[in-house]
Amino acid sequence: MPSIPEGPEGAPTIGFVSLGCPKALTDSELILTQLSAEGYRTAKSFAGADLVIVNTCGFIDDAVKESLDTIGEALAENGRVIVTGCLGAKAGEGGGNLVRQVHPKVLAVTGPHATQEVMDAVHVHVPKPHDPFVDLVPPQGIKLTPRHYAYLKISEGCNHRCTFCIIPSMRGDLVSRPVGDVLAEARALFDAGVKELLVVSQDTSAYGVDVKYRTGFFDGRPVKTRMVELCEQLALLAEPHGAWVRLHYVYPYPHVDELMPLMAAGRVLPYLDVPFQHSHPDVLKRMKRPASGERNLERIAAWRRACPELVLRSTFIAGFPGETEAEFDHLLQFVREAGIDRAGCFAYSPVKGAAANELADALPDALREERRARFMQVAEAVSAERLERRVGATMQVLVDHAPQLGRKGGSARSYADAPEIDGTVRLLPPAKASTQIRVGEFVRARVVAAQGHDLIAEAL
Ligand code: SF4
Repeated sequence: MPSIPEGPEGAPTIGFVSLGCPKALTDSELILTQLSAEGYRTAKSFAGADLVIVNTCGFIDDAVKESLDTIGEALAENGRVIVTGCLGAKAGEGGGNLVRQVHPKVLAVTGPHATQEVMDAVHVHVPKPHDPFVDLVPPQGIKLTPRHYAYLKISEGCNHRCTFCIIPSMRGDLVSRPVGDVLAEARALFDAGVKELLVVSQDTSAYGVDVKYRTGFFDGRPVKTRMVELCEQLALLAEPHGAWVRLHYVYPYPHVDELMPLMAAGRVLPYLDVPFQHSHPDVLKRMKRPASGERNLERIAAWRRACPELVLRSTFIAGFPGETEAEFDHLLQFVREAGIDRAGCFAYSPVKGAAANELADALPDALREERRARFMQVAEAVSAERLERRVGATMQVLVDHAPQLGRKGGSARSYADAPEIDGTVRLLPPAKASTQIRVGEFVRARVVAAQGHDLIAEAL
């Protein structure tokens, strides 16, 4: 359970469980920040709390089950439960609210990004403490990630309607946050010591489409609400701190090309997380994927010419309805030719309410699973070959763990590794006893070997 700074002795206590993706995490941080600002304290267990808030995920069936089980546990142990997040927006059978159908005793249910509604519900059931400890809240708010990296959510929702996805029906169409607010948050995070900023949304390259790339203001200067301009400004903010800016969920629209000079100059990390999902045009059409008409192999080759250091991460779906052996082979060939550095793959699994469930020619489960395994074999070979090329190189890495100041070594990441989803750089115990390795700091390291998804390196 994440914690918030202690409110006054005797202040009401709130239990908090945060499930789901980085976007849900930022919602949790906003709610925790507000709770702390109003003087509430966190409870260490469900049983000891005055109230429990569960931030849920509703993306795939496993996440739905985990969320419903957690709500059930909180109800059994505490009884006073508020539910927020994606699952809160989901309809159950017959159209009513799913959470209320399964757990009629919950006190309140809201959808995602509903800090104010959650706070209103908290106030109804556990009145605000008298003496808000606003001063206890650090200016950057409460973060659930370790201090040296943070997620920056730039928009909510999505204008696409991919047939396997129900996010738009839960989160609605794209709503971009005002560029001035996003940059102010980024500056507060850097000022608070964040060394790596991870830009997240459902569709980062679409930032600003909903407001027609309106010109906003930051520090009295005009800035367009558009991905490239946003990245330029983030790079300027990161520079004095020597911090990293990393982009996630970038669809390969033409204007992504404009990022390459920023990446080649190292001002934004030369790392792109592009969720391709498939390569074959017919499958992409059945998936109704954004940017499906783009010539992705050509585009990737051009990106790599402009920025040879570029690392590509992507996720794919194997066994989508109607996927032929030839279409699947096309996908394998794509991963090889594109040289995808980091790939994840799901065997297609129908999500309740998704349009893809109506598509003809669903593949048997065993075949989907078999294709996923075959895909991973190819992807891992590609990834290992690309990792191997780094042996002998010297890289800047950001330290995540270093017990005893790194005397026994530690764990870090290079620009090629996003936290939690990619590999790591395992640091050997330093040769010199005087070398200290500190969490949240950058060190230079020489890569001595590659192992699985990871590199092994010695700190210099
Ligand atoms: S782009 Fe597609 S997969 Fe991503 S959130 Fe939008 S609809 Fe879902």
